[in-house]
Amino acid sequence: MLVYEEKKNINHFLGDIMTDSKKLKIYQLKDLENIPQLKVLSQEELFNIKVVANVLPFRVNNYVIEELIDWSNIPDDPIFHLTFMQKDMLSSKQFNKMADAINKGLGKQELKEVANEIRHELNPHPAGQLTANIPFMDDEPVQGIQHKYRETVLVFPTGGQTCHAYCTFCFRWAQFVGNNDMQFATDESKKFQEYLMNNKQITDVLFTGGDPMVMSYLKLKAYLEPLLEPEFDHIKNIRIGTKSLSYWPYRYVTDKDADDLLELFDKIMSKGKHLAIMAHFSHYKELETEVVKRAIRRLRNVGVKIRTQSPVIKHVNDTSQVWEKMWQQQVNLGLIPYYMFIERNTGAKNYFEVPIAKVFEIYREAFKSVSGLSRTARGPVMSAMPGKIVIEGIAEINNEKVFVLNFLQARNPDWVKRPFFASYDSKATWFNELVPAFGEEEFFFEEELSDILSEKRERFIENFL
Ligand SMILES: *Cc1c(COP(=O)(O)O)cnc(C)c1O
Ligand code: SF4
Repeated sequence: MLVYEEKKNINHFLGDIMTDSKKLKIYQLKDLENIPQLKVLSQEELFNIKVVANVLPFRVNNYVIEELIDWSNIPDDPIFHLTFMQKDMLSSKQFNKMADAINKGLGKQELKEVANEIRHELNPHPAGQLTANIPFMDDEPVQGIQHKYRETVLVFPTGGQTCHAYCTFCFRWAQFVGNNDMQFATDESKKFQEYLMNNKQITDVLFTGGDPMVMSYLKLKAYLEPLLEPEFDHIKNIRIGTKSLSYWPYRYVTDKDADDLLELFDKIMSKGKHLAIMAHFSHYKELETEVVKRAIRRLRNVGVKIRTQSPVIKHVNDTSQVWEKMWQQQVNLGLIPYYMFIERNTGAKNYFEVPIAKVFEIYREAFKSVSGLSRTARGPVMSAMPGKIVIEGIAEINNEKVFVLNFLQARNPDWVKRPFFASYDSKATWFNELVPAFGEEEFFFEEELSDILSEKRERFIENFL
């Protein structure tokens, strides 16, 4: 499996280390009993996982279980919290409702109905994704893409609407539970390509999901290669949002189409495009296995830029030490820290949420402890309805304690980098809980935002429903 490196004549950099291959083995709800490591749990703990996994999507794999989770540190292990459900992820009312349904021995369909009732209480589509971000062409919504910021379109390939394992806090969870009314993905017509072709202001295409890297080389190629044609010359940057380096690094090392994939990446860059992997890393433990280091080296050897991002998640990475160490290790491995997010208001939000003020402290403490090479990480960021809002700081102005906020991205690009202020609130966890400082009625962008949104909503209702 060294074919590609040999061709590039870089084999000597990698020494003689060979990576044993691993075949992906996925465990879902029905396979819980077959995970030998779970024997360390009590029957009750196992049942709790089962109850929550009937509502929120559950999936782990043999790499996560065998190489990432430290089973001598259960339940505290961060990767265990990242992938295995905990009872408190549902309210006690929701939990009991599902537990009762299971104990009554209800059938699959009935369990699903109970699950759906609970799911609808969990804000499946935060930030109005359905109505506010779907673009139109000839009065028809374009399937499977979102266009929120002028330069960048998100593409949700049909084959990438799953991941190698699921994060328990996932803000895209509604995509995975199989309710068609909650899903979106590209359709067969590939009409989104026409949209990209016709909109020359778009410079960036970001493939996302789920995880596009669950797709085979051939499927990926069908999405990536067309972008090398002259009619897409305006698309300069291709990004792939993925957690595969954390959950299945074998994708780039020993999977049977790993070399083909690297060659495709090489080709994309040789045609003058910037290719970036937007890698989701939640914890430095995900950077420490031999195989992830090797995957990173292989990607970097062909010139792929790897930028990193993650939300701050209680029980997983809510200390500055974790971030400090994670950024340092990332820089050491040649990765570029990019975003620190505040967790969105969806799914098991109550279980994972960390107040904005605390996330800011985590960011500041970590940021001030690292060298400039790690200070490329921007944050903490809320990807909210009006745009990506960063907490610049906490200040006292005219005796009022305030959050200093700024847009990194906005529905109207003109809102970017115009500092604005919200009253300090030590408990607030999301933008909608903040109020303007200095007794002002509203934030400077609100009127314009509501115009933009009502226009979109009308068009959506007219054409889609
Ligand atoms: C974050 C994000 C992007 C990319 O923004 P960059 O600042 O260019 O990384 C694009 N679209 C949406 C909807 C986003 O949330
Ligand atoms: S990898 Fe991303 S999309 Fe997949 S479960 Fe985790 S947060 Fe969700």
